[in-house]
Amino acid sequence: MIRRRQTRQIRIGDVSIGGSAPISVQSMTNTDTRDAGRTIAQIGELAAAGCEIVRVAVPDPQAAAAVRQIREHISIPLIADIHFDWRLAVAAMENGAQGIRVNPGNLGGREKLARVVDAARMNGVPIRVGVNSGSIEKDLLARYGYPTPADPSALIESALRNVRLIEELGYTEMKISIKSSDVLTTIAGYRRLAEVTDYPLHIGVTEAGGLIPGTVKSSVALGILLFEGIGDTFRISLTRDPVEEVRVAYELLRALRIRERGPELISCPTCGRTRIDLFPLAEAVERHLQTMRTSLKVAVMGCVVNGPGEAREADIGIAGGHGVGIIFKKGEIIKKVKEDELLSVFLEELRKMEEENG
Ligand code: SF4
Repeated sequence: MIRRRQTRQIRIGDVSIGGSAPISVQSMTNTDTRDAGRTIAQIGELAAAGCEIVRVAVPDPQAAAAVRQIREHISIPLIADIHFDWRLAVAAMENGAQGIRVNPGNLGGREKLARVVDAARMNGVPIRVGVNSGSIEKDLLARYGYPTPADPSALIESALRNVRLIEELGYTEMKISIKSSDVLTTIAGYRRLAEVTDYPLHIGVTEAGGLIPGTVKSSVALGILLFEGIGDTFRISLTRDPVEEVRVAYELLRALRIRERGPELISCPTCGRTRIDLFPLAEAVERHLQTMRTSLKVAVMGCVVNGPGEAREADIGIAGGHGVGIIFKKGEIIKKVKEDELLSVFLEELRKMEEENG
């Protein structure tokens, strides 16, 4: 069993992070934040996929102004991502951002940071202190060298230095992230950070890549950390539609038996026994499952001989034969259907099951 590291708890809007709160799933929009309509639409898609907190880039005053309109039309808390300009952080909070992500070290000095912290305090907004390998202060790089798996000290020290700056201003509503694009540095860094602080941690691998490499890198790094109880909220970062990030995030949580959302798909890789065009069938079923909330195990198997047995643990499944297919529940065949009707009959059965399970 996974034992979570004990952390303080903060709240971003109505989502608690840290302490005994569930590990929350985040993503980030890739629309132009100034285009409030498109950003709202994408946040709607993310929320429907299960995203619990969304981050938007705020690179200029128009984007900071758009936060107000966006907030009015979305159902999940919004974090404004700010670099360099403290005024954007203040404006985003005044416009309703429920969290901000900054690297305090690049806001231009203590006085400017103090303005940001004052606004955070006034608006009840937690700050994510986000440092990454590319933005470490020169003196720390000179002292510790570029962060590596053997020595991630520069990342840790940079994060702690920035946390202390905010603590000195009397504010402790924070979470921390230390991002690297290297899997082993990410693991080593967060392990060390978890030993020296009890602030909640936002974990992730930055610039992880496209769907396959990004999923593998994120799953290895975050899978190991989450298994060790480290991480209170996370983002899978992919060069893709961010909705995919959310799907991968839930698959990761499911694989670790931390959280479940919606049905689980079991599907066979096909082999020489397959007599049906299984891939489009599996994709169509997968698309339908993405619209479901019930936690069912659903199987899509390539042959009637081995399929139902191999997927015995499935609540319901489909197996393709030669010109026909079968539908089974818990390994028992309940229906035999012509191949061209297989998908529609199966989806009907799924809908019925969803209604029964309420
Ligand atoms: S279920 Fe049938 S088709 Fe699929 S891998 Fe197993 S034996 Fe092959």
